Amino acid sequence: MTDEQVDVLVVGGGPAGSTAAWDLARRGRSVLLLDRDGRVKPCGGAVPPQLMTEFDVPASLLVNRVDCARMVSPVGRAVDIPIENGYVGMVDREVFDEWLRERAVAAGAVRRTGIFTGLSGNADGTASVTYRAGAHSTSDDPSAYRPKAEADAWPLGDPILRLKDHLIRRGVWSDERHKQGEAEILDEVIAAQKEAETHGTLHSGPKPSARDMFEGVYAETPPHLRRQRQEAGS
Ligand SMILES: Cc1cc2nc3c(=O)[nH]c(=O)nc-3n(C[C@H](O)[C@H](O)[C@H](O)COP(=O)(O)OP(=O)(O)OC[C@H]3O[C@@H](n4cnc5c(N)ncnc54)[C@H](O)[C@@H]3O)c2cc1C
Repeated sequence: MTDEQVDVLVVGGGPAGSTAAWDLARRGRSVLLLDRDGRVKPCGGAVPPQLMTEFDVPASLLVNRVDCARMVSPVGRAVDIPIENGYVGMVDREVFDEWLRERAVAAGAVRRTGIFTGLSGNADGTASVTYRAGAHSTSDDPSAYRPKAEADAWPLGDPILRLKDHLIRRGVWSDERHKQGEAEILDEVIAAQKEAETHGTLHSGPKPSARDMFEGVYAETPPHLRRQRQEAGS
């Protein structure tokens, strides 16, 4: 938990969010721009020249200028659509979106990478925002969509390590006690896993019946699932 306060939280650092964050920041608002990272938009990247002037975007971000679009049907018939009196600019969304986010930062917005999960109202009229820095689940691999070391740079650091350091500083905890605590917890987890495995594992069985997939979902199994259950022989 951090106690930083801002006027505005902008969730999503696509063109809309990062431009809103930039505009608010340059008008003197304190802004937190929160974006989950690592995904380049599936996008043609076409932008009208009007956008460049209205949103003050430099021409250096254009990777190409297009004066005609061609539609090709699956059987190979083509229709040209000329762009009259001008051009359509092409941007690389990876570069373009990042430039917009960094422009917001340059105007004073604070940028955080994370997944927004919720907002809750406080008694004093402010709101607290919750966002996730860690993995979704044990099967999630965040390194696939954000730099591996990013969590280390998380604002104020890992909360468990911060609590540990805080308690050590106050003289009510120690590195030895911490190591001992970790070992105790690990033993507890291993014991719980062994106990769970006595009921069976996916490798050694006993294998659950295919019927189990259909149980406990509907009060009354709908006909298509009943059919599938019969096909599965259960
Ligand atoms: C195939 C395709 C081709 C396209 N071609 C063009 C084109 O040629 N020209 C054009 O102008 N437009 C094109 N578009 C449309 C264009 O991509 C969108 O209009 C534009 O990206 C919308 O911008 P946005 O900022 O509203 O949303 P987005 O670009 O979608 O940005 C939303 C951001 O919010 C983040 N986010 C979402 N949920 C959370 C969360 N819980 N916590 C934190 N962050 C979150 C996402 O990661 C993302 O960065 C195309 C779209 C598609 C799909």
